[in-house]
Amino acid sequence: MIKVKKRKILLLPGDGIGPEVIKEVKKIIEWFNKNRSLDFEVDQDLVGGAAYDKFKTPITDEVFFKALECEAVILGAVGGPKWDNLDFSKKPERALLKLRKELKLFANLRPAICFKQLVDASSLKPEIVSGLDIMIVRELTGGIYFGEPRGIKLINNGERKGINTHTYTSTEIERVAKVAFELAKKRNNKVTSCEKSNVMEAGQLWKEEVQALHKKDYKDINLEHMLADNCAMQLLRNPKQFDVIVTDNLFGDILSDEAAMLTGSLGLLPSASLGAKDKDGNLRSMYEPVHGSAPDIAGKGIANPIATILSFSMALKYSLNLDKESIELDNAVQKVLDDGLRTKDIISKGKKEVSTSTMGDAIIAYLQK
Ligand code: NAD
Repeated sequence: MIKVKKRKILLLPGDGIGPEVIKEVKKIIEWFNKNRSLDFEVDQDLVGGAAYDKFKTPITDEVFFKALECEAVILGAVGGPKWDNLDFSKKPERALLKLRKELKLFANLRPAICFKQLVDASSLKPEIVSGLDIMIVRELTGGIYFGEPRGIKLINNGERKGINTHTYTSTEIERVAKVAFELAKKRNNKVTSCEKSNVMEAGQLWKEEVQALHKKDYKDINLEHMLADNCAMQLLRNPKQFDVIVTDNLFGDILSDEAAMLTGSLGLLPSASLGAKDKDGNLRSMYEPVHGSAPDIAGKGIANPIATILSFSMALKYSLNLDKESIELDNAVQKVLDDGLRTKDIISKGKKEVSTSTMGDAIIAYLQK
């Protein structure tokens, strides 16, 4: 008998609304196991403030090794006022940084999709954002956030100097550009690469390396280069001109938040962080909603679980090679929104307000149909 390999998924609910939204993902995984005969093996553990409260560390070695061994990590959110005054090394967010760094998750994918049902939630005119579907690929482990030298130095006469260094190597640029080109192949065949090659040498190298990779392996993809400040403007002026945007850590941090807000709602935005394949060909990856732990609404049963559910859908597509199931899940989310069901954060006149768990159940009910 052929032994079916179990797909290991690690759920890390974290803090605040994290456990509430991850609970809905767990229900969906159970539904897939039962109804699509997918053999997901789910493990769940503590991370962030919840881990600190029990073990005095935001992530234990045991959980970290579990993350290394599974096919996908799905994280809720970490942090909250209870842990704000901890030493930097103990803060809940350190767990995220450790996972990103040690799993070498160098490509952060953030789709910005404007659901037609929620077009009024955007601060831009409906005709500008309706049907918007762009993907921002942000380099996540290099650039100015990690470059050396860094620090604050005392110079003359009590004057201080803050130093950060923006560095990129060809390899770091090439591997993230490759992710962007591969994504564009499955989308609308266009990549916009953003840097500041007019004023920064690292930006010039970025442009040259992306261009060289394009020439070597991706001639069929439409590549354009854009200065990052222009990209910030174009995102507001005409965001639908973009398909995939690839950029460095700093510009990506800003441009992905800007693009996210075009869609109007934090509770709907998923993300994926992808690393290199290991020697067995498995992709290291972590999936999480863009939002945080929302302490202001934690425990009330009103959090929107859709961002986390769509993050799981990205895991189905990018880590588990289950494109069909990913599309099925995305469609179920759309149908529920078509039916007018809304959590409190996206409620509008004439729509029906539902709780976190009712939203999860309604999505499952559509999977069932
Ligand atoms: P936040 O995203 O948690 O909340 C911002 C606002 O959006 C709040 O009003 C919140 O109620 C609302 N909101 C967020 N997600 C929602 C959802 N799913 N459904 C309904 N409403 C939602 O950002 P914040 O308030 O700046 O941060 C709170 C805590 O989360 C902080 O400790 C911060 O460090 C942490 N944080 C963690 C992550 C992460 O784990 N990746 C990311 C951002 C912030």
